Amino acid sequence: MLRVPAEQLAQTCRKQYKLVEKELNSAMGEIHEVLKDNRAAPSSMNGLVDRLQGLKRKVEDGQVQEDELLQRCRVRLDYLQKMHERDADPKNRGSAQTERLQRLVADYLLREGYDHSARCLAEGAGIERYLDFELVLASRDVLAALQARDCEPALAWCAEHRAKLKKAGSTLELQLRLQQFVELVRSGRAVEALSHARRHLSSAAEFEPQLRLAMTSLALGPATCAAPYAKLFDEAAWGRLAALFHKQQLAALAMAATAPLLVAIGAGLTALKTPACFHGDHACRECPVCNEPFRALAEQLPGAQRSQSSLVCRLSGLPMNEDNPPLALPSGNVYSRNALLSLAADGVLRDPQTQEVVRVDQLRKAFFM
Ligand SMILES: [Zn+2]
Repeated sequence: MLRVPAEQLAQTCRKQYKLVEKELNSAMGEIHEVLKDNRAAPSSMNGLVDRLQGLKRKVEDGQVQEDELLQRCRVRLDYLQKMHERDADPKNRGSAQTERLQRLVADYLLREGYDHSARCLAEGAGIERYLDFELVLASRDVLAALQARDCEPALAWCAEHRAKLKKAGSTLELQLRLQQFVELVRSGRAVEALSHARRHLSSAAEFEPQLRLAMTSLALGPATCAAPYAKLFDEAAWGRLAALFHKQQLAALAMAATAPLLVAIGAGLTALKTPACFHGDHACRECPVCNEPFRALAEQLPGAQRSQSSLVCRLSGLPMNEDNPPLALPSGNVYSRNALLSLAADGVLRDPQTQEVVRVDQLRKAFFM
């Protein structure tokens, strides 16, 4: 929650610093030129004053942006502090947990494209300041352009974040340029494709294998069935490109790659998962891990290591202890006393597994070593 505005602030500061450095260096260059040749001094100085006034305006705008981001960090920091205090207070803990869940759900809805629902939930709970609506919605336009087979907005984004992408070893920009090349080949514009490859693809040594494939595809044409080349013309490439852009954009914005709601659910399911889960008839009907809708999510997750275990009745889902001891049926199945007695009528009950009729006095106390 704090990383996103902090990263935006760092990016804004870096941009401002580079802008000032570039403009001042250029101004100093002009001043040196003027000192060498006094005749051009008046017009050069007028131009310089205009440029420096332009720089001043840009710096002031940047300052406003930085103040806004600092304020956002402050608001979120205060919120985290308040949440910590509410968690520590038993009276407020429940409302803090509800609010946290609402924030996670709103964040998930926003990531999945349910913008209106996310906004309604966030506004209803008064938590819209703690979600990054503008950033996610801005990225949606680039993704929509990619789905409409337009790389330009994504390339503009890459140019803006070039230093960061380079540091992370990203090939996103090259992949976008490669896709543009493929589209030129697909539409039969071979000469344009060649000059595009020379301009944008030839300088990247790490991209050489893909470049070689692309050049061969130019000779073979879009109708080729040869495996590695046909893949270049696959329509699904646009979807893969959109997914790659989305992943790298989340990283550049310091947003978590997996929605925090899914991480929280995964952590909860791992804590609940036991070795008995998914074992057919032994599964507890109250266990979220063994039942839909979480079962599919939980199947891939590891179980937590437990140094102490407790017995839970698979009929009632309640703990079995000295007040509600485990009782064994003649078939060997074990349930809690309260659950079995609730099934009994006139001193008899049916075994939930075998449907065999059992007298209550046939129930035996079970002991666990
Ligand atoms: Zn289970």
